[in-house]
Amino acid sequence: MTETIRLAHGSGGEMTSRLIKEIFYAAFGGDVRDANDSAVLELPRGRTAFTTDSYVISPMFFPGGDIGKLAFCGTVNDLASVGARPIALAASFIIEEGTTFEDLRRIAGSIGEVSRATGIPVVTGDTKVVDKGSGDKVFITTSGVGSIPDDIDYHPRNIRPGDAIIVTGSIGDHGYCITALREGIDIKSAVTSDCAPLHGLVEALWPFGAHIRAARDATRGGVGMVLNEWAMQSSRGILIHEERLPVKDEVAGGTALLGLEPIYLANEGKMLIAVSPEKAAEVLDCIRAHPAGADAALIGNTGDDKPRVVLETAWGTQRLVPVPRGEILPRIC
Ligand code: MG
Repeated sequence: MTETIRLAHGSGGEMTSRLIKEIFYAAFGGDVRDANDSAVLELPRGRTAFTTDSYVISPMFFPGGDIGKLAFCGTVNDLASVGARPIALAASFIIEEGTTFEDLRRIAGSIGEVSRATGIPVVTGDTKVVDKGSGDKVFITTSGVGSIPDDIDYHPRNIRPGDAIIVTGSIGDHGYCITALREGIDIKSAVTSDCAPLHGLVEALWPFGAHIRAARDATRGGVGMVLNEWAMQSSRGILIHEERLPVKDEVAGGTALLGLEPIYLANEGKMLIAVSPEKAAEVLDCIRAHPAGADAALIGNTGDDKPRVVLETAWGTQRLVPVPRGEILPRIC
């Protein structure tokens, strides 16, 4: 019989200990005998980045990843967005009664896998079980701390007129992959979620110092949302060129059929980078030389002091890219 999570697994007793030991310690490493109420960290001197995010994606498993890998990478990428080197993560699980041990083991396993690959440990966590119908299988909250080098300050307030806007790769892959899965569209070819950790790519940009003005992972609301936030926060207009946006053919075709725009679709392994015009070409080369940034493109520039995003089409016509309204795709991350 398939072993499933029962309410007693969240009672704090012997069954909880077994669950934590067999699933989480087994996946993340460490020794259950060392457990304490808090992890104790030695942080480098200087500024510390601290972030948290919750993950409720449906379905939990998808081509290119699962809710576990997504939760880990999402928090790593939020740390990377302020130029931080991730030091440690926390992962908290809300599990619905009836979830199989097998699913849980798989999710914890993919967190362990990306944790080992990146060398970023999961040092603390929590588990709660809710009765059937009060949740939907597994929800995860991840938090993370990272250290920021003294000369790094990535924030949209630093954006100046004429700065270049770079996207580190093809857009809309994650959003399209999840939508296609839900719509029952057969994804035969290469489109999988782009879910990936980007801290290494951002660290490669550290030597450019203040020439890098801002970085942000283009998750919910996609590139369109981040650019609108940057336009508001920097009080600058941003002009982007449609034909320079890296969009995979299948994503372009599929989104057209579904009535979606790749520019608003979630990405889980892509950053937007604002960079000074002097260093734009060099920074683009540096990003393209990194395995996570091979398809990077310079998509536009900041301009006048009217805070809005304008898209120029291949025909030379221009249109506004407004802030997306409402929830385009629920439970995408
Ligand atoms: Mg983010």
